[in-house]
Amino acid sequence: MAFLDTHPNTNSTCNIALDHLTHWMPIAVPIKSWYISPPPMNHPLFGFLPLLLPLVMKFYDSLGKFQCPPSHVIYKNRAKRKFSQLDNDHFKYVQCFYEGMHNDARTCLSIALTAIQHGALCLNYVEMIDVLYSDETSSSGKAIGAKCFDKLTNTEFNIYAKSVVFAGGPFTDELRLKENPNAKPAVSGAAGTHIILPGYYINDIGLLDINTSDGRFLFFLPWLGSTLVGTTDRKGKPVSTPRPPEEEIQWMLREVEKYLSNDLLVRRSDVLSAWQGFRPLASDPHAAADAPISRDHVVSTNPESGITFITGGKWTTYREMAEDVIDTVIENNRDIFTQPLNMCNTLNIPLIGGGEHYTRNTHIKLIQKFGVSEETAKHLSNTYGTKAFNVCYLSKPTGRRWPRFGKTIVEGYPYIESEIEYQCKYENARSVADFLCLRTRLAYLNIEAAKQAVGRVGDLMAACLDWDDEELVLQKEIAYDKLNEFAGPVPIENYQNNIIGATNKYDLKQIFKILDSDNNGYIDIKEMYQAASMLGIDVSHSSDGDEDGQVTPSTKQQNELKEMFEIMDVNNTGRITEQEFIAGWLNTKDDIILKNQLKMKFNVTVSGIEKGPGVLFG
Ligand SMILES: Cc1cc2nc3c(=O)[nH]c(=O)nc-3n(C[C@H](O)[C@H](O)[C@H](O)COP(=O)(O)OP(=O)(O)OC[C@H]3O[C@@H](n4cnc5c(N)ncnc54)[C@H](O)[C@@H]3O)c2cc1C
Repeated sequence: MAFLDTHPNTNSTCNIALDHLTHWMPIAVPIKSWYISPPPMNHPLFGFLPLLLPLVMKFYDSLGKFQCPPSHVIYKNRAKRKFSQLDNDHFKYVQCFYEGMHNDARTCLSIALTAIQHGALCLNYVEMIDVLYSDETSSSGKAIGAKCFDKLTNTEFNIYAKSVVFAGGPFTDELRLKENPNAKPAVSGAAGTHIILPGYYINDIGLLDINTSDGRFLFFLPWLGSTLVGTTDRKGKPVSTPRPPEEEIQWMLREVEKYLSNDLLVRRSDVLSAWQGFRPLASDPHAAADAPISRDHVVSTNPESGITFITGGKWTTYREMAEDVIDTVIENNRDIFTQPLNMCNTLNIPLIGGGEHYTRNTHIKLIQKFGVSEETAKHLSNTYGTKAFNVCYLSKPTGRRWPRFGKTIVEGYPYIESEIEYQCKYENARSVADFLCLRTRLAYLNIEAAKQAVGRVGDLMAACLDWDDEELVLQKEIAYDKLNEFAGPVPIENYQNNIIGATNKYDLKQIFKILDSDNNGYIDIKEMYQAASMLGIDVSHSSDGDEDGQVTPSTKQQNELKEMFEIMDVNNTGRITEQEFIAGWLNTKDDIILKNQLKMKFNVTVSGIEKGPGVLFG
């Protein structure tokens, strides 16, 4: 999941001045020694980076044609004051440089909406399942279209086209295999893991740690009000589930702890959300053996079917990638396409909501006109640009003195309910999971907050899209399943002894559902006692012991239950989430009577484990 856009002002992407979606992010690189060990990217020469960094960064500025604010050095004493959250005793200096930043999902949607404005036809929830060929019987000849499956209506249909392009990112090879089961791979995946910590770990300047224990870079960035921590890539087969490996999360937390000031304790439960994304690394399977390997994107055409594919690349170059692929398609099909009248002009087309009517003060106008909170106004103007006014027109009064309009979907985040109506009516939002993951980034920012929002978002979407009860229940279930694919404050499995199998996880989820008698997504202590007493455990005695000071069996059972509850309630909120329950099952002793009873009743075989060094919750 990309969020950082290197120099968005360059020729290849957009114009930041007219653009509500991107902004400059200053990033500081604290330098604590003149030689880095282990060296970055495991190359000994890179160990000397601290000596050359100011020069390297000037060169980097030049790549963006000096349109970004200039890189600069912050000297020791000022840096100590500025970065109080860092372990800053041994600063030599801090190098500061600039990157462009955006909310990638919103940029992607804005591109699609802009394309639609200019005449494109876009379909969401449609999967290409096969290629259509000129010679139908032998599935050979030129590709003339694609067989598709509409996941909203469960129907298949065909799209016919003059030219077919595969642009499946890291999944492009899966598309190519539909065309040719023996296709040589063109793309490999590189996984990048991100964790979200609360916003208070960082101020408005990002940080880059180039001196981690294994030579990878670690960055900390303020992103949508939270702190985003991420690593550089690790090779791996692309999968579409966002769940990152627990050991990556643990590695990041260890590195964060080393990096931050000694008086800051970073806990596993501070991880509000965690996910991974796969970046496509491309090579051209149709190129000659001695052709140089592309470091960027690859556009290539299969001469037999005429299908062109594009893969690799970056957000930084997305517009240029699109231009290259369209140029290739026109070039390859001179017999079908007439020579275009104009050169590609997408560089000068602002994305929807951008353009000359958008200014960096749009959020102030929103506050003055609608009485929405400053947080919400900034979020709306950075997301919808000038269309933020349309979102506000749909907003309902809060019934409070301030903010007057813009009822938030979940506390602590700026998303408002009228966005649901706006997105359903004007931006083709069609599922609760999509709204919580990509339309807003709530799932990426705070997975528990996202789960809490499922009910309300579902109800409002149902009203907009005329869902019946059955559809609404299904939507909510799908949303919970999707959200459970993210990692959150509680590890779902013990990363060193991955002993919860899928069946047991399923069983534990069922038990959780039964214990959660009011079905609000949490178990509280009352529900725990209720379950115990239903299973015949005596929890009625409330004194600390009998008159001889002996602990009575029922008090012992009560204490056990209390202890089990406290272990599971990692965040000390008095409520246990499903993830906490599953992880807590592993971390509580096996001889607790409630646990034993539940195991017998539901035939669960997974055991608790001894807590020791390296085991979670620390
Ligand atoms: C962790 C990470 C960090 C990154 N950081 C940066 C960065 O800092 N700067 C930068 O510039 N870039 C960055 N990138 C790279 C950037 O995000 C990717 O290069 C870019 O998303 C690739 O775009 P794409 O459109 O080719 O593929 P994707 O964005 O992956 O889109 C491919 C689409 O094809 C769809 N698809 C696949 N199969 C089918 C099918 N059969 N039918 C219909 N649809 C299908 C998929 O659902 C998907 O929506 C990063 C990437 C990752 C993973």
